[in-house]
Amino acid sequence: ETAIVWFRRDLRVHDQPIFLEAASRAERSLAVFVLDERLLGPSGKARRTFLHRSLRDLDSSLGGRLLVVRGDPAEAIPELAGAVGARSVHVAADFGPYGRERDEAVEKALGDRDVELVRTGSPYAVAPGRITKSDGEPYRVYTPFSREWAKRDKGAPADTDASTVAWIEPSEKDGGPRAVKIPDDEPPEAELPDAGEQAAHDHWEAFVDEHLEDYDDLRDRPDKPGTSRMSVYLKYGAIHPRTLLAGVGGSGKGATSYRNELCFRDFYASVLWFYPRSARENFDPKFDSMPMDGGRSAEEKFRAWQEGRTGFPAIDAAMRQLRGEAWMHNRMRMAVASFLVKDLHLPWWRGARHFLDLLVDGDLPSNQHGWQWAAGTGTDAAPYFRVFNPVTQGERFDPQGDYVRRWVPELADVEGKKVHQPWKLAEPPSDYPAPIVDHKAERQEALDRFNAL
Ligand code: FAD
Repeated sequence: ETAIVWFRRDLRVHDQPIFLEAASRAERSLAVFVLDERLLGPSGKARRTFLHRSLRDLDSSLGGRLLVVRGDPAEAIPELAGAVGARSVHVAADFGPYGRERDEAVEKALGDRDVELVRTGSPYAVAPGRITKSDGEPYRVYTPFSREWAKRDKGAPADTDASTVAWIEPSEKDGGPRAVKIPDDEPPEAELPDAGEQAAHDHWEAFVDEHLEDYDDLRDRPDKPGTSRMSVYLKYGAIHPRTLLAGVGGSGKGATSYRNELCFRDFYASVLWFYPRSARENFDPKFDSMPMDGGRSAEEKFRAWQEGRTGFPAIDAAMRQLRGEAWMHNRMRMAVASFLVKDLHLPWWRGARHFLDLLVDGDLPSNQHGWQWAAGTGTDAAPYFRVFNPVTQGERFDPQGDYVRRWVPELADVEGKKVHQPWKLAEPPSDYPAPIVDHKAERQEALDRFNAL
């Protein structure tokens, strides 16, 4: 018998439960990836490039036997099953709104040919939908969710490698006219981390050796290399969270804090699973009538925010880090999101879209809910009246100003924490803008609009 192993967000050969499942059912399998315009179109250059590099790495692990096709999976996968005579197609379940709809369409089209779509595992430590309150209702608040999550068995990493499955050498005819080469890179402005499974493991081991112990103390410091930067590897499944959970060890403040963050990833995926509309709409509909700014001046402010020229050094450093590394520190993601919504009075989804365009780890559940949290519209969101102060955020979390000087060259010569308020310098640098808004006044404006709701 023959099977198909369809890779999606699990571009690795180790810890692959779908390999075990495919090998238990069929003697030989065809490895496939589908380039799907509906996912790639909105992805942005950084993510597309990282994906292509990850695919090249996977293909090389499989001895050049990854078949890449382009098209609608609901047509391409059944055609391939027909071409190689497969009886089953193996995937890790997808829980996003699009992935879920796509898989239902694929499953139906396969069913018409008597081929089974077999879902094994997911990209999460605990798959979305599994954790509910005792009455079956979804959790809308993180802390009780996390208590339940902590009790669940996350499973041990599956013992697999490329040789777990006997791979079919794909022939041109298998993929038909849809078969393509892995596309060339379209390098973004940003410098990207190394792609691939080995890079993910190397990166993870270095983090555990050098930074895990101090993670809890330093995770809020954008000036220090204190976080793991594993988000992009998790996004593409170069490594599975259960491997990270197995690697963080038991106790210790760093390990506990790291586990909490991985739980946040599962929580937001769970919220999106139960409330798919929260990718686009306010989780709390009360905010639907919140007035937002529009017109030319709002557009100019939005552009200044995107380009990192708001005149608030910590905000600008972060927005330039986003361009420079296709990544931004979590503390700064919260700060720039709060700034867009509460200082500039622009809707969170515009910022969320800009993030998804540039982030290499851009991921719908964590991004949209991270934005809704900062905007005050989300699940257990920051209360709306909690407005981040763009200056004190910088002074607190970048106390020596190193982060600002790294990303804002106009301020490179300003020493120490004075860099956070250049307007107070005897001679402010002439090439750095003055603040585009008065934070105190805009904070009041945001609160007034909120109180009027
Ligand atoms: P670490 O601090 O090392 O955390 C370890 C892992 O835990 C991360 O890789 C990530 O998988 C998970 N994690 C950590 N914090 C969060 C969180 N707040 N929510 C969900 N998961 C978390 N994360 C994304 O992966 N993709 C996004 O598109 C994304 N957009 C965000 C937008 C906003 C406005 C905010 C506030 C947060 C967003 N996050 C997003 C969450 C978080 O900022 C990133 O996961 C984190 O900065 C990635 O860096 P790291 O791997 O060094 O994190």
